[in-house]
Amino acid sequence: MDCPYCSNKELKVTNKRESPDGIRRRRECLKCGKRFTTYEKISKEELYVIKKDGRRERFDRDKLERGINRAFEKRPVEKNKIDQMINEIEEQIRKRGKKEVKTSEIGELIMKKMKKIDHIAYIRFASVYRDFQDINDFKREIKEL
Ligand SMILES: [Zn+2]
Repeated sequence: MDCPYCSNKELKVTNKRESPDGIRRRRECLKCGKRFTTYEKISKEELYVIKKDGRRERFDRDKLERGINRAFEKRPVEKNKIDQMINEIEEQIRKRGKKEVKTSEIGELIMKKMKKIDHIAYIRFASVYRDFQDINDFKREIKEL
């Protein structure tokens, strides 16, 4: 990147602010001293999920919501709280600024948050996500709570 005023290449970042939509950087030219802002936008369409078998598909928030809502079915947890959790998860994924995320990374993120909200929902989700083979897997997971 060059300075838009004098084309000098030596720039300093004086301030950096992250948001779910992108990263704003305040830059200062080391030659002419002028300041300007750059905005690195993370397009919502550009996030891809890499599945266990290596397949790649576009990040789908509805799918994330469905999976999470299923785990919370009939649990005494406010819808608001669940929605907030989903927002936080999406934000955390996008904030990293990468274009790809592994399903395992999303899964771990979800489980970490669920564990704090509702243990039953957590076990339900973990059983599907971790593909529990038998009752001993459940027992092990419950012991860790
Ligand atoms: Zn300059």
